[in-house]
Amino acid sequence: MRSTSIKNKVNKMQGKLFYWHRRSRLLLPGICLICLEPLIGERDLCHCCKSQLPSNLICCQFCAEPLITQVEPLICNACYKAPVALNQALASWLYLPPFSQLIWEFKYTQNLAAGYLLLDLLRDTLSNKSKNYDCLVVIPGQKARIKQRGYHAPTWLAKRLALLSGLTFYKRGLKRIKDIPSQQDLGRKARWLNPRGAFKASADIAGKKVLLLDDVITTGASAHWAADELKRQGAISVDLLATAKTPAAFKHESI
Ligand SMILES: [Zn+2]
Ligand SMILES: [Zn+2]
Repeated sequence: MRSTSIKNKVNKMQGKLFYWHRRSRLLLPGICLICLEPLIGERDLCHCCKSQLPSNLICCQFCAEPLITQVEPLICNACYKAPVALNQALASWLYLPPFSQLIWEFKYTQNLAAGYLLLDLLRDTLSNKSKNYDCLVVIPGQKARIKQRGYHAPTWLAKRLALLSGLTFYKRGLKRIKDIPSQQDLGRKARWLNPRGAFKASADIAGKKVLLLDDVITTGASAHWAADELKRQGAISVDLLATAKTPAAFKHESI
């Protein structure tokens, strides 16, 4: 009981600090994160760069792969032939320039201004859907990569998205039980099967509606096997939220 009230106080304090950090950012003059032009009356992106961000408006409801036509049901060929374990995938942008530059800045140079912009875009994508979920869970990263980069981008986003949206971030909801070999030299089928058995879900995920978070959906294989494991442990539903989707023709191996 006592530990719950301390935890609530810490959460409240973190929320206040985060709020003031965001407010102070709004007051500072900025530069465009993509073209580096000084900004007047805009935040993070100039009007020109913002208008060039590639949106993913028409896409497969299960994996967010972009589709050519908006014919219902919105399902890509791959999901039609072999359904994925996800109930829904939400990714409003495509992992193409200049959006990919923002992700790169955030993941590889720890540019937190890019991180906050991605956070705002994630919140826009989530919109008012947070009430549909019982908890937010991230796809755990590979230990070696986290050590190399010094942090895990999806966890950074999840902690802050939880504060903004009122979702409960369940850090131990899913853990990685094995690091997997690089996808780079693998064929298509082997890449899909590569993350199988890499995750273990917590037993108390049973009966919950889970929102899974990742930064970018590349092959979608990690999200599929993560959702598969969460459902094995009794999750009612698993939706995936990501900043962007890499279109099948532009798979980027470094993500
Ligand atoms: Zn710009
Ligand atoms: Zn699909």
